[in-house]
Amino acid sequence: MSVTPMMAQYLEIKAEARDALLFYRMGDFYELFFDDAAEAAAALDIALTKRGQHEGRDIAMCGVPVHSAESYLMTLIRKGFRVAVAEQLEPPEEAKKRGSKAVVARGIVRLVTPGTLTEDTLLEARAHNYLAAWAEVRGEGALAWVDISTGAFHVAACPQVRLGPDLARLGVREIVLAEGETEAPAAIAAEQGAAVTPLGRSAFDSASAATRLKALFGVGSLDAFGAFGRAELGAMGALVEYVELTQRGKLPLLRPPRMEAAGTLMAIDGATRRNLELTVGAVGGRKGSLLWAIDRTVTAGGGRLLERRISAPSTDVDVIRGRLDAVDWAVTDEASAGELRDVLRRVPDMDRALSRLSLDRGGPRDLAAIRGGLKAAETLFARLAQTDLPLDLGDLTGQEALRETLEAALAAEPPMHLRDGGAIAPGFDAELDEVRTLRDEGRGVIAALQGRYAEATGIASLKVKHNNVLGYFIETTAIHADRMRANDTFIHRQTTANQVRFTTVELSDLETRILNAGARAQDIEARLFAALRKQVIDAAPAIFAAARVLAELDVTASLADLARGEDWCRPNVDRSRAFAVAAGRHPVVERALKSDGVPFVANDTELTAEDGAAIRLLTGPNMAGKSTWLRQNALIAVLAQMGSYVPADSAHIGVVSQLFSRVGASDDLARGRSTFMVEMVETAAILNQADDRALVILDEIGRGTATYDGLSIAWATLEHLHDVNRCRALFATHYHEMTALAAKLDGAENATVAVREWEGDVIFLHEVRAGAADRSYGVQVAKLAGLPDAVVARARAVLEALEEGERSGGAKPKAIIDDLPLFATTPAPAPKPVKDNAVEARLRDVLPDTLSPREALDLVYELKRLV
Ligand code: ADP
Repeated sequence: MSVTPMMAQYLEIKAEARDALLFYRMGDFYELFFDDAAEAAAALDIALTKRGQHEGRDIAMCGVPVHSAESYLMTLIRKGFRVAVAEQLEPPEEAKKRGSKAVVARGIVRLVTPGTLTEDTLLEARAHNYLAAWAEVRGEGALAWVDISTGAFHVAACPQVRLGPDLARLGVREIVLAEGETEAPAAIAAEQGAAVTPLGRSAFDSASAATRLKALFGVGSLDAFGAFGRAELGAMGALVEYVELTQRGKLPLLRPPRMEAAGTLMAIDGATRRNLELTVGAVGGRKGSLLWAIDRTVTAGGGRLLERRISAPSTDVDVIRGRLDAVDWAVTDEASAGELRDVLRRVPDMDRALSRLSLDRGGPRDLAAIRGGLKAAETLFARLAQTDLPLDLGDLTGQEALRETLEAALAAEPPMHLRDGGAIAPGFDAELDEVRTLRDEGRGVIAALQGRYAEATGIASLKVKHNNVLGYFIETTAIHADRMRANDTFIHRQTTANQVRFTTVELSDLETRILNAGARAQDIEARLFAALRKQVIDAAPAIFAAARVLAELDVTASLADLARGEDWCRPNVDRSRAFAVAAGRHPVVERALKSDGVPFVANDTELTAEDGAAIRLLTGPNMAGKSTWLRQNALIAVLAQMGSYVPADSAHIGVVSQLFSRVGASDDLARGRSTFMVEMVETAAILNQADDRALVILDEIGRGTATYDGLSIAWATLEHLHDVNRCRALFATHYHEMTALAAKLDGAENATVAVREWEGDVIFLHEVRAGAADRSYGVQVAKLAGLPDAVVARARAVLEALEEGERSGGAKPKAIIDDLPLFATTPAPAPKPVKDNAVEARLRDVLPDTLSPREALDLVYELKRLV
């Protein structure tokens, strides 16, 4: 069977986009065929139909309307698909000229992938959408990344061991890797949730990359941007090639690449980020994260900058102090900062508007965004230049001419799409005004004509109407047909059931004039739009620079607003190895407690290292507040080094170069893998990497295995941190045996979270104090949790016997338990013999020492069921 010309065209285009779903434009729909249709219909939950046959089999088909295609695209991208969009490249009339059977020319105009989105509807306004490429040349690795929705382009040295942490820091959505050698990096990327795209090896060639980059940025040498190694060039080259590939040659306005110097950012790996919930909360999404708790920015650009700052705090004391000085200004000069925020609230997203314009995907409203942004920039410059705000505001000015042009040219409220008409303001272009008058007056003239004809014929109900088939026509009811036909002026066009339709020479002339005027108005608008767009793109570097300053101002003012509102203090950050916090708080827990009306108990931290290590070994019962204190100190370091005030009365922080935070496996039950193994792998990473400027937070490490194993691992880990890593560390544990280490290690001291016992219950004071917890209070906590009285009493007896045995240095725990009279110390157990017997019987079989925490928890559930 022969293939229809359309199907032939479809198959040809599909061959270019095998790994993507093909959206094939047909009139007002994008159609999908064959397997694409089946996959898309399932993913989108839309009807799967068929259309004709191919090689004797039905062709599966589904379609989505063009006007709502974006939401379908978003769903597909979220589900991990890539989509190639094939548009009609000529109007159908053109094709008809080639013959009645000719197929409209079509071609792929764009490949939509997770890392290459630009539409506002597909993007989160306040988050970057990074596309990255990683290259390795002779053992040297490099990562290049770009946000094509804003044009930001960066590169950094990145050995494979840093790939995971860097992808985690940036939240990369998609990564390009060299075909054929992607296994290890691809696994790392997948772990971080980035889509992996293999690209031919030639795209990574450093020599052709250099040539391509020089051409792209119009420079003779790349030296001005930095000294790039082969791996860096390879990664950047591949990235640019991939962007070109997906955008079909229309390159977005990439800014010149910025080389990220090694060691200028606090290193934070993926596990630490997740554990501290820096930008993503425990349940996914922003809620509950540090970012969520502190974000008071009012612009999209400011929101993105704040996220970048939290994700990558600085280690450069001068940079940090510079940012803090600016926040100081906004804290002190409250009036100016308030005005500043009022202006910022109206600032549109210039970065993304500019990027869409450069990809020829922008509309009149994107020009309006540039107009509004530049106007705000000027206003702010005028107001702030007089103040002593210590920020360079120079980039806010200099675009007055462009802004004035846009103000004169653009309508006050331009339409979404150019084709809607009305984008250009009246009075800007004489020719446009003229044809618009002609077009609009034409409509008035037609109305007048109707009156005249009604009068001439004496048919009051005569109407001049318009439809797409006939254009303008005169319509009367059928009873007047004869009277109309008698008049020579009227030329009959059509008779319907009830109506007769006529035209006149005059009417069809007028119609041509109106149509011409309308089409000409469109042409002129398109021409003017293109000219404005070009002017804007020519000024892109200056516009990006202004947007950057606006974002900086937003972050500064929002951090000041936060500091004032929450009573935070300016941290003193220097090159020492101090870590002294007075009355520190956990910003997220405090906020959560506040909404319940519960006060947060502030705590001091003294972790200054003279030389060697400084370690606090924290013991205390569960629920006392150990994790909260540990994490609040890590968050204070992040906040201080991103250039924010901190939740404390005072804080002195010697720059932290690396931040590590790990939590013992049993808090992590949901993750499925052998959690103890994960815990050990992550702990190993710390012990292998932490230097003497690191801050390490270890929460119940070793908990995921049997007691003695766990204790020995925790013990050895602490010794290693002290003797080899020599870092600052906070270490929470429930192994009381470890408190003995404080006496042995110079840099280690005990601390505990105070609780008070009252009539056999515990009351949590949440106060961190020097010294070791005298006991674990586990039994009291169990009581608090609602364990049956009989079990609590029995547990107390077992505990006392064990403690007694330990004190006398005598029998082994098992022997003690075997000797223990059953429930002997229980004050007359409640008379529920059947249930209690079942509990007893079960307990008799238990060997506590052999239980993992998970098994113990399961046991508690089991016991509870027996009661
Ligand atoms: P632990 O790690 O010792 O088991 P957490 O740090 O998880 O304890 O704290 C348990 C709960 O106690 C927290 O969810 C919080 O509600 C409360 N809490 C902890 N620290 C404080 C504090 N400093 N002030 C007030 N409440 C606190």
